[in-house]
Order: sequence, then C-alpha cells, then structure tokens
Amino acid sequence: MPKFPIMTTFKDLNLSKQILNALSDIGFESPTPIQEKAFPVIMSGKDAVGIAQTGTGKTFAYLLPILKQLTYSEQRQPRVLIVVPTRELVVQVVDEIAKLSKYMQARCTGVYGGGNINIQKQKVYDGIDILVATPGRLIDLTLSRTLQFNSIQKLVIDEVDEMLNLGFRSQLIKILDILPEKRQNLMFSATLNEDVEMMIENYFYKPEYIELISRGTPLEKIIQQAYNVPNFYTKVNLLEHLLRTEKNFSKVLLFVKNKKIADDIFKALVTPGRDEFTEEIGVIHSNKSQPQRFSAVKKFDEGTHRLLIATDVIARGLDLKDVTHVINFDMPSKEASAYIHRIGRTGRADKTGIALSFITKLNLPMQKEIEALMKKKLEMLELPEAVVIDENLTQDEKPVTRDKSLKKLPKHVTPTGAFHEKKDKNKKVNLGGKRRQENLRRIAEKNVRNRPF
Ligand code: AMP
Repeated sequence: MPKFPIMTTFKDLNLSKQILNALSDIGFESPTPIQEKAFPVIMSGKDAVGIAQTGTGKTFAYLLPILKQLTYSEQRQPRVLIVVPTRELVVQVVDEIAKLSKYMQARCTGVYGGGNINIQKQKVYDGIDILVATPGRLIDLTLSRTLQFNSIQKLVIDEVDEMLNLGFRSQLIKILDILPEKRQNLMFSATLNEDVEMMIENYFYKPEYIELISRGTPLEKIIQQAYNVPNFYTKVNLLEHLLRTEKNFSKVLLFVKNKKIADDIFKALVTPGRDEFTEEIGVIHSNKSQPQRFSAVKKFDEGTHRLLIATDVIARGLDLKDVTHVINFDMPSKEASAYIHRIGRTGRADKTGIALSFITKLNLPMQKEIEALMKKKLEMLELPEAVVIDENLTQDEKPVTRDKSLKKLPKHVTPTGAFHEKKDKNKKVNLGGKRRQENLRRIAEKNVRNRPF
C-alpha cells in the first residue's frame, strides 16, 4: 500500500456511514492528495480534469464522490459510465467499486472486448447503476441496443492519454457524441498533450483542473528578470552563452511557442562540431513518442540533462522537482496567466527560483499585461557583450511582403487563360472509380437482359 502524508481524514469529507465503514474494512485511513483535491470539485457537479498517475489513488478520487452521490434506483440503464483503456483496468475498477460499495446498493458491471458478449448483455439487461467499459465493447453493446445512454449523468474517462496511445480516439469521440448532453464529464490522465486538450476543449464545459503539482510558488520567491532580444538566432546565442558561462543553470526548463521551435533550438545547440551540449539537452513535445518523452523527463529529473525544452501543453502534466531556472525563450502569446504558471515551476520547496524571459518587440504588449497582472515589473538586464546579435531572421520572423507585380484584376474583367471554359472534349466527367464503373456496366447489362420483349 503506498504511503501518503496524512492531512485530512475521510470523516472530514462528510462521507456516508456505509462508505466510511467500507473504507475502514479496506484499511484506508486518510485520503491521498488527489482524493482530497478532487472530492469537492466532483461533488460540485463541475466538469473536471485530474492530472494524476496510477499509484496516486486516482481511482478512489473519482469513486468516492460518485458513490456518495449515487442514490438508490431500480431503473435498468446505467447512470454512471466509466471508460478505461484495458480489460485489466475494467476488472480493477469494478473490484474497487465492489469494495467501496460493500454496504450500499450499487449495481456495477464491467464489459470489455474478449469477454462473452452475451453474458455482458444479460448483465446490462438485468439493470446496473455503474458501467465500467473499454471503448470498443461499449460501442458494440450500444449498437445491439441492449445498452442505452439516455440515463448517463456522469462520465469518467480514465487514463485518457493511454487510451489515445492505444488508438481508441475515434471510438471515444463516437461515445462522447452519443451521450446525453447534460452530464458531468470527468477525465483522468497522467499527462496532457494536444490530443487530450482538444478533446477537453470540444466536449468539456469550463473544466476545473485538479493537479498534484502545486503551481504558484509565491511570486516573491522567484527572481524575475528579462532581456530584450531581437530574434530567434540571437535568442539561441544568448541561451548558449548562459549555458556555457552560468554553471548554476543546472535544471533549466525552457518554454517555447511550438514544436518546431523546440526542435530548431535543439538542432541549433546540438549540431555536429558544436556538440558540447549533446549530453545536456532534452526536448519534449506532443510529436515525441511516449518512450522519448519519458526518457527526456527522466534524464532531466535525475540531473543527466540540465536543459529541458518544452511546450506549454506538454509541460502541464509534468511534476518536475527542483527546477533552478525557468526560461521563457518565447513569451506566452495568448494569456498572461500562462507566464505565472510557467514560472511557478521553479522556486519550489523553500528554494529561490529564477525566471528569465527573452522579450522581442512583438512581446512588449504581453510584457505589459503580465506586469499588470502581477503588479510587479520585470527586472530588465543588458544583453551580455559576448552575445552576438544575429541579423538573420527565420522564415516566420521575416516581414510578409506582397509582390507588387501581382496586381489585382479589376472586378469587371473576365478572367482568361487558365480560367477559360474548356472545350467539350476536354471536360472531365466524374465516372467514379474503376469498381463503380464496372458495377454500372453490370447493372446496365442486367437491365438489357431483363427488358421485356
Ligand atoms: P490508483 O492510483 O487508483 O491506481 O491507486 C493506487 C493504490 O493506492 C491502489 O492499490 C489503491 O487501493 C491504493 N489507495 C487508494 N486510496 C488510498 C488511500 N486513501 N490510502 C491508502 N491507499 C490507497
């Protein structure tokens, strides 16, 4: 059984006597941090996204409030749906529900691919309150009309990142599309990536994020400094200079605008003949595979890598300890609050953190917004003399110019040339593919054969 620091007891959560007795039978005394944080949010009925790994007690984190709110009913169709990626997890969740609801009337069943579908159909037909399922089998059961979704009030998608990794994306979307609109959505994931974020954006209503990572190191514990830097290549020069000269930059989390810039910085710092940083830098973004991400985070966490380049989205679910510096290689482009979330990743556990921002002309309005939000100005530093100002611009930084030779046609002129009407013989008629043409030919032949004389 994992050890968790004792903060509150289960009694403080105002659970029912039945659940408290069940917990005492299991031998659990106090909620884990994720259970404590998730409880009031889920009880409030809001949509919620919990960022927590297996082993944190995340299953009970959603089961406790769900069981507390479950009322007795004799209706057949389920009111709570829990979707998980694997059959093992179905079995595990059903088992945990059974233990927790030992003294309650809660009908629960698990369905998954590979199990006998007729037995599963019968169980659903007999009536259930909570259904735990893998996505594929869930869809099979709805297609056969045994299972209907109209009574679902709460949906839990557990280990959604794993589910997407396993290729359940389209099934999951199908399920989300056929569920009743009025429902509470809960999602648990160890990490957040763009895929997961997209799903949240499309299907969740103002979700509350429940995270174990304590964001928001008090601002006064973070030294906030900034440089005015004209462009990408000069930013790279500055970063290289800092890494080379400042040995106390030992655990640096570097935020960038997008995946391409993350890869570009890596390439710029780790090129053949310029490989002093090869063993020191990791990159993490949503195009990297799970093992690559895992390895990058591990190396950073252990201290093998001193620099981790990350996008906002991917950094969200990471619990990185003892980050000495946060660098905003690119300033946040949309919301000033993102700046505060980013810099809160340094300066943990009574340590002073340092946040550095590389600010271009385009970022000046955002800098003002951030300073207004914090009611504090960033300390501006001079660019070190050794940093070469590179005049070269990336494709994205080049100003957009219009080719003046491409004049707009006056509206009344009928376009000629490529836009003329085609001669009849050149007109293409869509006859469909080979197979369609073959089918049409067969049908025509058949019609001729069957025509009455
Ligand atoms: P999970 O993260 O849900 O996979 O849970 C990890 C393990 O922690 C499981 O074996 C749970 O039974 C156990 N667990 C869950 N909640 C608690 C708790 N409050 N105290 C002690 N162990 C717990």
